[in-house]
Amino acid sequence: MNNTIMAQKNTIDQRVDSLLSQMTLEEKVGQMNQYNGFWDVTGPAPQGGNAEIKYQHLKQGLVGSMLNVTGTKEVRKLQKLVIEETRLGIPLIFGYDVIHGYKTLAPIPLAEAASWDLKAIQNSARIAADEASAVGLNWTFAPMVDISRDARWGRVMEGAGEDTYLGAKIAEARVRGFQGDDLSKPNTIAACAKHFAAYGFAEAGREYNTVDIGTSTLFNAILPPFKAAVDANVKTVMNGFNILNGVPVTGSTFLQRDILKQKWGFEGFVISDWASVGEMVPHGFANDLKHASELGVKAGCDMDMESYAYVNHLVESVKEGKVDEKLIDDAVRRILKVKFELGLFDDPYRYCDEKRERERPYHKDHQEAVLDMALKSMVLLKNEGNLLPIKKDQQRIAVIGDLADDKNSPLGSWRLGSDDNTAVSVLEGLKAYSNEINYLQGPKVFDDSANFLENVLINETDTSGIDEAVALAKESDIVLMVLGEHGFQSGEARSRTKLNLPGLQLNVLKAVYKVNKNIVLILMNGRPLTINWEAENIPAILETWQLGSQAGNAIAKVLFGDYNPSGKLPMTFPRSLGQIPIYYNHFNTGRPIKEPNVFWSHYNDEKNEPLFPFGYGLSYTNFTYSNLKIDTSDQKNVKVSVTLTNSGDMEGEEVAQLYIHDKVASVTRPVKELKGFQKIKISPRESKEIKFVLTDSELGFFNNDHEFIVEPGRFDIMVGTNSQEGLTGSFLID
Ligand code: BGC
Repeated sequence: MNNTIMAQKNTIDQRVDSLLSQMTLEEKVGQMNQYNGFWDVTGPAPQGGNAEIKYQHLKQGLVGSMLNVTGTKEVRKLQKLVIEETRLGIPLIFGYDVIHGYKTLAPIPLAEAASWDLKAIQNSARIAADEASAVGLNWTFAPMVDISRDARWGRVMEGAGEDTYLGAKIAEARVRGFQGDDLSKPNTIAACAKHFAAYGFAEAGREYNTVDIGTSTLFNAILPPFKAAVDANVKTVMNGFNILNGVPVTGSTFLQRDILKQKWGFEGFVISDWASVGEMVPHGFANDLKHASELGVKAGCDMDMESYAYVNHLVESVKEGKVDEKLIDDAVRRILKVKFELGLFDDPYRYCDEKRERERPYHKDHQEAVLDMALKSMVLLKNEGNLLPIKKDQQRIAVIGDLADDKNSPLGSWRLGSDDNTAVSVLEGLKAYSNEINYLQGPKVFDDSANFLENVLINETDTSGIDEAVALAKESDIVLMVLGEHGFQSGEARSRTKLNLPGLQLNVLKAVYKVNKNIVLILMNGRPLTINWEAENIPAILETWQLGSQAGNAIAKVLFGDYNPSGKLPMTFPRSLGQIPIYYNHFNTGRPIKEPNVFWSHYNDEKNEPLFPFGYGLSYTNFTYSNLKIDTSDQKNVKVSVTLTNSGDMEGEEVAQLYIHDKVASVTRPVKELKGFQKIKISPRESKEIKFVLTDSELGFFNNDHEFIVEPGRFDIMVGTNSQEGLTGSFLID
């Protein structure tokens, strides 16, 4: 810390202490209370029901934060209420789920992760913060840094995929993007690493379900992205809905106090997930809301989102001696500190700048940036016979699929602040490129009225539209099939037991294939899918996820070769649902190798291998790796280098990936672990030397006593183009 930052920190600490000393117990507990603003806050004071109670609590200084209140007018109105009507005038902090943009939408977070481009990802969070801060918000409930190995879980769309190393790097980039270099600037907002912890390991991928995992997985696979967020100075952490090994994480002292606050020195505050303090009752962990509030605060959950637990019960619990007031002081100190750091005590209306509100959302520069992000996020899964890029003079291009003309699904889920139907559709993007586009929807698959709160209705039976689509395909030179999931089929509470193309989409694809094999499958989805028939038969497949506002423009650019795809899968694509959880960094069994009989670790009816492995993605050019060198002269800085050559004819970007395998350890290590990557732009016929350094942080691991250790011994390494293909070597640490 330099002297100026140190001085600022001291000043803030002093201001916090001085304010805290003036606060009553009720006012302190009020700071620990967050309410959802579901009523028209710009209208007259609400009469009756919860809204009136909340309004009264605001006036009494019993609320520290609001969520889901946006707009400078709205924020100003509530801020004014607490500043002018409460005894101490402590400003509110306004939180919101700004997950992949506010108005201008970037690709869904999983798609961004596929870019492996940390600079672009950081910039994308920066843009989201710029727009959100212009509408009164100063806190986002992002990034979600949950690692998940289960594509059935709908929230994989919101994370960075299955890998801990990549996830930690992305967590850091996103925190830096949201918070900027100075939180007191009015275009930066506090970030929130969530959901602490292990929410992504819900059993069977079913939302909100039980998590029961061992120490090694918790420490080595799940916690590092949170630690990376804390090291990047994330201001808040959200706990979660799940239990972990029998204890609701909201009531887990081990996670929140012992690890997060004590071991990692986290100085920000912990917010509960929505009503998760109250959920400790149905979990069978707390008797009632009062008991839940005691357990929550003791465990280190500083702010209660929408459980009405802290605000209604904690004062009494303190007075009864059940909760030490010191714990309350600690929580409030943390909350006030973030408010000071955001500059809210200097100017509580600093985020209520109407000029910025008019100018920043949907800003032209933001559109350009999300277009760039979208280009980088696509993954070319197959390109047999170089069907792609489409020749610009190609005649008769058919575009088929319910998602082709959809302006909503490309926006994905978790975009509460944005406007519906604002994406550039694939069809619009393509039409801007060529006059030879003929479009037919084919069978209607998704119900257009689907929204964030309800399940998407899927047509499984009405085949009308297939015959026309087939007829069009027959008289076309190339067929672009835009298929996948509806934008609201992933996200919270969107678990699936099938990972196929929903509804009649495979039927129409097969019908078209019978008459025209020149098909490009353009996938639009929020999670890995089991697309075996498609992968075997369709010559070209482009994974586009849900790319946000500029989706169609980005997709057209890639299809017509104005951008060379460079994304790599951040999550394994299974062949079959029965393989889940399937992830590249699994462990060896005692019988990993195929034996002549059946007694080895495998399925009788499916391969062990995935359909597409982690880190996989093609390019329109070819990359070759050669000349792997390992230099162990400095054991604390093992140097690895490789020559990467673009052996094709087009400029392209490759993500060179370094994996290690600690062969023998006191706690066995995965068969492979990503420990370095670089995304490099490289011209045709050009070669570049790529260098990596492996230090203790890459070579070590957590043992079952929670200690980070590096053990001597042999390490295998692989450097290459995905988690399955690369040059291999090995070295010794003694
Ligand atoms: C989600 C959180 C989110 C919160 C507030 C919950 O349902 O799990 O991730 O931040 O709602 O909207």
